[in-house]
Amino acid sequence: MRCNVIIRAIPYPPQYKNRLLNAIGGGIIFYEILLKAGIRMINQTNVQLGEVRSVIRELFEYGKKRKAQIGEEKVYDFSLGNPSVPPPEEVSLTLEKLIKECDPVFLHGYTSAQGDGAVRCAIADYVNSQFNAGLSPDLIYMTCGAAAALTITLNALCNKGDEVLTFAPFFPEYTVFAQHAGAKLVPVKTQDGTFRIDFDSLRSALSPATKAVIINSPNNPSGVVYSESEMKELCSVLTEYGKQHNTEIYLISDEPYRELVYGNVTVPYVMNYYARSIVCYSYSKSLSLPGDRIGYIAVNPKMAECRKVYSALCGAGRALGYVCAPNLLQQLVAKMQGKTSDISVYEANRNRLCTALEDYGYNVVKPEGAFYLFVKALESDANAFAERAKQYELLLVPGDSFGVKGYVRISYCVSPEMIEHSLPAFKSLAESYR
Ligand code: PLP
Repeated sequence: MRCNVIIRAIPYPPQYKNRLLNAIGGGIIFYEILLKAGIRMINQTNVQLGEVRSVIRELFEYGKKRKAQIGEEKVYDFSLGNPSVPPPEEVSLTLEKLIKECDPVFLHGYTSAQGDGAVRCAIADYVNSQFNAGLSPDLIYMTCGAAAALTITLNALCNKGDEVLTFAPFFPEYTVFAQHAGAKLVPVKTQDGTFRIDFDSLRSALSPATKAVIINSPNNPSGVVYSESEMKELCSVLTEYGKQHNTEIYLISDEPYRELVYGNVTVPYVMNYYARSIVCYSYSKSLSLPGDRIGYIAVNPKMAECRKVYSALCGAGRALGYVCAPNLLQQLVAKMQGKTSDISVYEANRNRLCTALEDYGYNVVKPEGAFYLFVKALESDANAFAERAKQYELLLVPGDSFGVKGYVRISYCVSPEMIEHSLPAFKSLAESYR
């Protein structure tokens, strides 16, 4: 019986099938065969995660190969959300100053597991000056970007069998992060075409198993930014449900794009609307530092059990080995509060692309923030559409992995020149469907 279970759990090469089957019942022989076959009982979920690249990464790798074949400037790679504008000048000046003036033992040394106290104070002061959120440095945990912030938070909150809701379209890694925390990601449908919250769908998705809801505003990939009235309604639906079912739903706000908004759009600060909220912040996009891996988690001080939740974050960070984010970067961001790279480039790119694509007949919803366009594919199968786009050297990410079929994501964090050069290709792609 035990051997049966093991055999099903392990993908063995076909030539070992008979030997394995013969060995059922003979535990020792069975293990010897496994060892001779070089098969170790390692975690198959992780093997699979490691072997299957995300659609975005796959396309990016394809782009690299294609550029080597036909030339860099002939491939219009809209796959990755890698900021195209450099960090503000203050970043390199501050780094130089830190390296010259700080005690190297301190600068390159360990900080507290949750991050340097003075850095957390600088962040709390800035957040409070902007949003009057009453944030305390004791409720901030420094992380390697938003990805680590999210994994720590989900591992801190979730028990096996919990559900985590998020609005589709969503950042595909949420599925992996939730699964690793023992939870299940449940996508909630949004309004057709606009991707704004559909509150009826939210109400029907909530269940006693719901531990948390992840929001991401400005959104990757739709560019939607929740207005204050949407935020209020969202919070009141969660509060109502919590009261009626005697449960506690956490609201996790994933905010790597907080500052990337265009026109008069503002992003309501979640802590001012919902006590049981946690912010996962990153400097990857606002300061163009994605490779430097720095961000933080902040727990709302208005949450009754904020200290317990913070302890759970520290515990999850410890268990995952995500302690003590790089100190050089911590010291840097402490001095960069309120600074951003030049995001006007993204706004210009957005405007140029939206106008041109609309002219060519694409159905475009103008994004209010982030640096992505989520565009309706010109056929129902977005994968087929993205394949056809490749014939025009356009690398567009099919939207299926974001939880919405029939759309593609265009990352417009690229040079304005590339946008300009890519336009005839977008036009020809549209014409190929007429
Ligand atoms: N969340 C969203 C919505 C993202 O788009 C990204 C990265 O693109 C992340 C989280 C991860 O960000 P970080 O680079 O800070 O880990």
